[in-house]
Amino acid sequence: MISDNIQEVQTKIKTACDKGERSQSDVILIAVSKTKPVTMLMEAYEAGCRVFGENKVQEILEKHDQMPADVQWHMIGHLQRNKVRYIIDKVAMIHSVDSLRLAETIEQEAARKNIVMPVLLEVNVAEEETKFGLPVEEVMPFVETVKDFPHIHICGLMTIAPYVDDPEENRGGFRQLNKLSVDIKAKNHNNVSMNVLSMGMTNDYEVAITEGATMVRVGTGIFGERNYSI
Ligand SMILES: *Cc1c(COP(=O)(O)O)cnc(C)c1O
Repeated sequence: MISDNIQEVQTKIKTACDKGERSQSDVILIAVSKTKPVTMLMEAYEAGCRVFGENKVQEILEKHDQMPADVQWHMIGHLQRNKVRYIIDKVAMIHSVDSLRLAETIEQEAARKNIVMPVLLEVNVAEEETKFGLPVEEVMPFVETVKDFPHIHICGLMTIAPYVDDPEENRGGFRQLNKLSVDIKAKNHNNVSMNVLSMGMTNDYEVAITEGATMVRVGTGIFGERNYSI
């Protein structure tokens, strides 16, 4: 049952918060519902979930129209520039800003809708070649440029850690992301807040929380394994 799964995840979040001496209210659970049908999302909704994460524009659009209006949609996947305009006024946050050209497109489209778009910068802390995300050393200069975009608000950082057998292996990367956000916050830029650290998935969210995660993105732990073949 999805509601039981959510309960279990919330309990583990609480335990990790206690361990990290953090308040549970500082950690937002994002239910990652990609590939799952609206009936399952509704079960999560009935169990109290209001924040959902998706990684495909088309899927956000379809589910957005079918789910209640008080759901917050978070775009957590790689975003193509030509698709920004479809979701710009439908998502609460874009977690995956990783290029200046993408930031420029978001700025343009947000300006057109007269909104300020909350975004996270995706950082490739693990330095895996196949992954998206800014290399650590490029994040600071990136912030220096994008902080002046009037229709983008940089709220923090996001990372996708590699899948590992022992989640402890990802602790160093989470710690590094946290440190980077502290360094950026110290610059006191207007328009940059660094209050959000989006890190941790089903396999490693407890470790991420003890390293300061404020948003954890949990899919499998709530909805079960995904089947990409259907
Ligand atoms: C799919 C996905 C998740 C959730 O992964 P699980 O291991 O199923 O919890 C989290 N973040 C991103 C960016 C994803 O694409």
